[in-house]
Amino acid sequence: MEPQIPKDKRNLRACLLCSLVKNASQFRRDGCDNCEEILQLRGRPERLEECTTSAFEGTIAMMNPRRSWVGKWQRINPYLPGLYAIKVSGRLPDDVIEVLERSGANTAHAMAPRPPINVSAC
Ligand SMILES: [Zn+2]
Repeated sequence: MEPQIPKDKRNLRACLLCSLVKNASQFRRDGCDNCEEILQLRGRPERLEECTTSAFEGTIAMMNPRRSWVGKWQRINPYLPGLYAIKVSGRLPDDVIEVLERSGANTAHAMAPRPPINVSAC
């Protein structure tokens, strides 16, 4: 699977569920590579507004999710390679959280703040 990397720095948004960072236009066209099945962002601008945010801090490029300890630390290692936000502000719409809970998914990571990461220690 090709890593999804933003094409430029304008209009970047982070997925509220998995923290994947892409251009708004990429989200619009392809949805979220990890969460499209749940969030169904493709071709739905209002959904895109609700489920992604431009309020995020810091990014990590994760090229080898299974072997990356940073990925493990950020709890993003089950996801596809790509650029991920370290800290995302915002909350998924209630209906999405409901769907996640009903499916038995662990939503804690989507809502709980992550521990701060000391990047210089990588
Ligand atoms: Zn996502």
